[in-house]
Amino acid sequence: MADYLASIYGTEKDKVNCSFYFKIGACRHGDRCSRKHVKPTYSQTVLISNMYQNPLREPNNRLTPEQAEHHFNDFFEDMFCELAKYGEIEDLKICDNEGDHLVGNVYVQYLRETDAQAAVDSLNDRYYAQKPVYAELSPVTDFREACCRQHENGNCDRGGFCNFMHIKHPRRELERELYEGQALTLKMFREEQREEERHHRQRD
Ligand SMILES: [Zn+2]
Ligand SMILES: [Zn+2]
Repeated sequence: MADYLASIYGTEKDKVNCSFYFKIGACRHGDRCSRKHVKPTYSQTVLISNMYQNPLREPNNRLTPEQAEHHFNDFFEDMFCELAKYGEIEDLKICDNEGDHLVGNVYVQYLRETDAQAAVDSLNDRYYAQKPVYAELSPVTDFREACCRQHENGNCDRGGFCNFMHIKHPRRELERELYEGQALTLKMFREEQREEERHHRQRD
């Protein structure tokens, strides 16, 4: 029985735990969901909710689709460099969904759980584009399970309100450069921190 329960945990067959929260880290019912959303105590994955705003969906948008692509590439780079300060990133995914629980969600998976925790602790004290940042540890472990396969093939008929992740990809070379360059970002950040600590010690 215990084996059976373990094998169905977080799947559609599980009548207790919400499969959407478990697989995608967000469910459209939110706190009113009839199934449990069990927040992880440890995780390599952090969810930063509602961070990316697609300018093409703004009511008074003036950007062309190409300019919006540039805007997204800049946003991706910004996020990557900021998040790489906390530790080595294995994966960074940004959602282009429109439903409230998924719109603009940023998921970052670190190599180490301790780095994910450090990121959550620090990000929750910060603002981005004049809005407070909301970050939490997320149960998502496998993005292949969380992503909408139809969207990847360019034919999801649920569109922006789909309940699986519609991942927006940056320029391929940019993505590669960022993953390859992150050791350097991390090194520079740690050096800056050490430098600051030295300053503080000298002043005290
Ligand atoms: Zn739910
Ligand atoms: Zn979809």
